[in-house]
Amino acid sequence: MNTYGDLKNKIRDIGFELYQSANEVPTIFDKGRWMGRLMDHAMKDEEFKLNLFRYIDVLPSLKTDAQIANLLEEYFSGVKTAPFIIRKGIERISRGIMPFVAARVIKAGVKSLARQFIAGEGIQDALKTLGSLWENGFANSVDLLGEEVLSDREAGEYTQKYLRLLESLASESGKWSQDAVLENNSGGLIPRFDISCKITSLYSQLDPLDWEGSIDRAKENLRPIVAGAREAGASLCIDMEQYYSKDLIIEIFKHILDEFEDYHFAGVALQAYLKESKNDLVDLIKWAKERKRQVSVRLVKGAYWDYEVVSNRQRGWPVPVFESKDETDDNFEKLTRILLENSEFTRPALATHNIRSITHAIAVAEALNLPKNDFEFQMLYGMGEPLRRKLRKMGYRVRVYTPVGELIPGMAYLVRRLLENTSNTSFLRGFFAENRSFEEIIRPPGPKRTEAREKSSFEFRNEPSADFSKAQNRDKMQQALQSVKALFGGRYPLHIAGEDVFREREILSLNPADPVAVVGRVSSADRHDAEQAMVAAGNAFLSWRNVTPADRSGALFKAAEEMRKRRFELAALEIYEAGKTWREADGDVTEAIDYLEYYGREMFRLGRPAHPGDYPGEVNDYFYAPKGIGLVISPWNFPLAIAAGMVSAALVAGNCVIFKPSSLAPVVGRQLVEAFRVAGLPPGVLQFLPGPGTEVGEYLVAHHGIDFIAFTGSKDVGLRIIRIAAAIKPGQRSVKRVIAEMGGKNAIIVDETAELDETVKGVLESALGYQGQKCSACSRVIVTEGIYDEFLTRLKDAMESIRIGLPEEPGTFMGPVIDEGALRKIQKYVDIGKKEARLFFLREKSGKGFFIGPAIFIDVDPLSTLAQEEIFGPVLSVMKARNIEEAINIANKTAYALTGGIFSRGPLHVRKVREGFRVGNLYINRKITGALVGRQPFGGFGMSGVGSKAGGPDYLLQYMDPRSISEYTIRRGFAPLR
Ligand code: NAD
Repeated sequence: MNTYGDLKNKIRDIGFELYQSANEVPTIFDKGRWMGRLMDHAMKDEEFKLNLFRYIDVLPSLKTDAQIANLLEEYFSGVKTAPFIIRKGIERISRGIMPFVAARVIKAGVKSLARQFIAGEGIQDALKTLGSLWENGFANSVDLLGEEVLSDREAGEYTQKYLRLLESLASESGKWSQDAVLENNSGGLIPRFDISCKITSLYSQLDPLDWEGSIDRAKENLRPIVAGAREAGASLCIDMEQYYSKDLIIEIFKHILDEFEDYHFAGVALQAYLKESKNDLVDLIKWAKERKRQVSVRLVKGAYWDYEVVSNRQRGWPVPVFESKDETDDNFEKLTRILLENSEFTRPALATHNIRSITHAIAVAEALNLPKNDFEFQMLYGMGEPLRRKLRKMGYRVRVYTPVGELIPGMAYLVRRLLENTSNTSFLRGFFAENRSFEEIIRPPGPKRTEAREKSSFEFRNEPSADFSKAQNRDKMQQALQSVKALFGGRYPLHIAGEDVFREREILSLNPADPVAVVGRVSSADRHDAEQAMVAAGNAFLSWRNVTPADRSGALFKAAEEMRKRRFELAALEIYEAGKTWREADGDVTEAIDYLEYYGREMFRLGRPAHPGDYPGEVNDYFYAPKGIGLVISPWNFPLAIAAGMVSAALVAGNCVIFKPSSLAPVVGRQLVEAFRVAGLPPGVLQFLPGPGTEVGEYLVAHHGIDFIAFTGSKDVGLRIIRIAAAIKPGQRSVKRVIAEMGGKNAIIVDETAELDETVKGVLESALGYQGQKCSACSRVIVTEGIYDEFLTRLKDAMESIRIGLPEEPGTFMGPVIDEGALRKIQKYVDIGKKEARLFFLREKSGKGFFIGPAIFIDVDPLSTLAQEEIFGPVLSVMKARNIEEAINIANKTAYALTGGIFSRGPLHVRKVREGFRVGNLYINRKITGALVGRQPFGGFGMSGVGSKAGGPDYLLQYMDPRSISEYTIRRGFAPLR
């Protein structure tokens, strides 16, 4: 049966009425005005559009006229197609003519652009706009624009702002005239005003990984807002944000409604571009039915499409959005029907400017005989005004989503609107700017699918991290934590000549968060074991070197598969043995898998025979031969990944390996050997010799039979190994190659054009991720004067808000440091800092484990101990620089050269840093940790290391000797044809 009768013709009729509203052109598309001309130019020229929007984005943060003028030049002087007015401006500026005039004109321009979409800079300002909207026949939903909330203080301020907004609206709305369309539905009166609120702004540490904690903490601020809305007689809608937090936001919405059974005007937004949105809507309706209550649902298409596609692809996760606009439009119609059919339990709010979507909704509602006021349309302030006027005339309630806020926090919103208006797939652009025909506009959305390009299955792809927004992954991790804990105290043997060997002398591996807990007892090797291992390796090498590169790669792939199967168990083990948080532990496991997969493929490439030159009469072969027997010495801080990288590179190149893990994480180290055992390596190819570095490590470094050493660890130990390895022993056959990855004293530069939300987050993660115990960690921040105070305040607040605690608890941001020695050393540096510099922030943290809170020092002399020595803990030195040149100069003032970064939106500064900041891995506008195999090959120079970058195309070459064979093929004057 067709409930809807002749929907198609109805849609055409209603659509035509709306279509006629197009004879009015909104300001943003009006080519008679500068704004319309600028947008028109942006729509025709992608490069100009990119630069224009980037410039608009940075502009409100700029403090001086000179900066405004300079950046105009930096952004546009290379864009040959920039409009005349901009080229003229640049010309004047470059002739030194009055930057303040230019700045004033530009600022006024951007402000009026912002006023198109943002209703006011403050609440008072906005009340006027809301009043006049109401008197013109439009309802409202007020959204307070805010910066990203990075601390409890900021979340508290945001909550207070909403409470003040509710109070102001309650008294102001009393003055508005009566309007039956706006304040009634078939059930009776509905609130005169509405607020839209973002859950991520209510709790700075919101993270689906910490499911329960996030629900509880977000509700602390949401509760007073809902209570305030109930008291003020307002309705409230929870906005939807990134897909990653979608399920959590819906859950919080349900939880809070269960606390407010007598509040009837709450709602939530759902995004039709999400493939899961239909299920979410059906679930929500079911939930409302069970509770016999009505919820508002704001159906939107979704505003973060680019972000969802890019960020999920980057992480190797499925893309959660429909890839074509048509599919989204089609889904929007499906969801509209479900909503309207269930209006007993929902108050449908259809948020769209698309004539086809609107008319489809009207036609469906008519077919269902729904009263006009039982659903509503919503449109954004500053968009689609002619359409909303027309709808009101037709007797429908239209609610205008009205953002309020100052320019800086409002910039992200403004840029999103500009992108939306000018995008190729924008309905408004097609309708108002490109005069699409009625037929095009009213066409039903076809489910046109664009197939994503499939990579060849052999191409390297990073192992996706675990998506902890999914309940099944959180459950798996919890189960793994339990099962690993049950194995505490277990004994782990050496592995020599294919045999597991237990020794009486043991290394006790402790849980740094609870040092009475013994994670494992690992046999400790002595010199006799080392000698045995050398003999076994020598024997194994004779055949392993002749195994084909493809078969050696195969062993790496099998080991990777084994790790993939055990990934949660391995991560859980790292949480207990190394004190890593969930995400850090998971990251180490995926990186280990990456190395195996990447080097396996690299060996395929390098294993192909090459024949340099092409001359008749000779055949030249060029190939790589393994070096022999290698010693791999790894640190504790990436106990699986770094060991897996060095060991697998050496093995796949055809060498035999003796692997000595760090004594602080030997149980994880043993798991690498397990994975290779499952992969079926012949005896003697990989042997496991945990033991004291100074004993078994040093003994083997000096051993005459060792051909190379792959070491990752501290500078002091690395340099010592290099020295010892250089001494030639009797019977030694080769000069030992030492690949040594050592420490860092890494800096991030922050200039006055930096986007502060991203900067603070980036510095926080780089400095405190894994308690600052990464070689890539940020330990110096060099900030230019203009932004110094603001940056420090926000960083300090953010550091105050993060959770320090047991790493197995999902809400923990910082766990313990690795052992008592590390704790003492960090404390010693804090004491030195107190003498050398000024302590700006110190968060005390104690407990039975090795816990220490973060510290920030300011006024740090770039040459002081604090700024020169690797601390390997959560201690940050902040330095002020007058300008970018001085900042680069300070950044380079260390013997280390590992990682570094800059947060800046100034093209010239970014260029100078690219050219002048000499580090192995430079990062621009992102955190400086977390390099990915194959994408950001990792490693430093200077005192940070000798050797090629791990996870990069040159790495395997270090483990092999290139050989060349040339055969003279002419016999008695003839040569074979080639
Ligand atoms: P560490 O130097 O103390 O120990 C590293 C390894 O060397 C351990 O297995 C240890 O047992 C062994 N060892 C110690 N003394 C030895 C000796 N005399 N002879 C032979 N082996 C010896 O370093 P760590 O504390 O385990 O790790 C932290 C350090 O590692 C930091 O300095 C960090 O910057 C560095 N690191 C560098 C990178 C990189 O890629 N550049 C990566 C991770 C860690």
